[in-house]
Amino acid sequence: MQGATSPEEIHELVNSLNSKEKVDRSLELIDYYYQQHGDGLVVANSLGKDSVVVWDLAKRVSPKIRGFVVTTRFKPAATKQFMGELVAKHPETLVFQNDVEIADELYKTDPDQCCDLLKVQPVRQAVEEMGVSCWVTGLRCTEGRTRTDYLEVEERDVDLLKLNPILLWHEREIWQYIALEKVPVNPLYGEGFRSLGCEPCTHISTGANERDGRWVGTSKCGGECGIHTRPLKVGATA
Ligand code: SF4
Repeated sequence: MQGATSPEEIHELVNSLNSKEKVDRSLELIDYYYQQHGDGLVVANSLGKDSVVVWDLAKRVSPKIRGFVVTTRFKPAATKQFMGELVAKHPETLVFQNDVEIADELYKTDPDQCCDLLKVQPVRQAVEEMGVSCWVTGLRCTEGRTRTDYLEVEERDVDLLKLNPILLWHEREIWQYIALEKVPVNPLYGEGFRSLGCEPCTHISTGANERDGRWVGTSKCGGECGIHTRPLKVGATA
């Protein structure tokens, strides 16, 4: 199982597979690449609803699979507490945070630079320090305008594969899985959030897209922090 090879095939599968078939496909994808990469396969956990599903799926493939969390000084208190609970239960999840000094309210004046320093760089550090050759994400192609054209397997960086095993899942299928498998989830969803990030850049939104509440009021609104778009090998600057 090497994944669909074109966005057209992805979009066809999003609506033709049922939720059980999507779960089976995700498990097969993780299993296939775990057999290829062993300990080099590591789950990136953003502590959101999609990440906890991917983490649960990975643990069904092998309890030995490791993870990493990138956190920032701006994460909500509830997210930090949720992270603490997850790491206490799964010490094979390592936490990365960049404590570099930054300008006051950089998230307002230059959110791209803020995300690059506080999110992208710690992911690069995690990839380097954990010896990651295949990182596994919770990216889904129906989340918003910036996520429609990804593939289940990407080769953006040399010697670093990116696996998006739940790319085909709808939002409702995420919640269906969480309910059926009783997966612990960040309590902020109970307040109405649909997509979670740093506190100053995340709002409750009732817009059409899940990510409409991210970076509201900036050119980045509904967009990306950069970990899915920027090179991730140490030394990369593009
Ligand atoms: S989400 Fe906001 S606060 Fe967090 S790193 Fe990006 S710009 Fe900075």
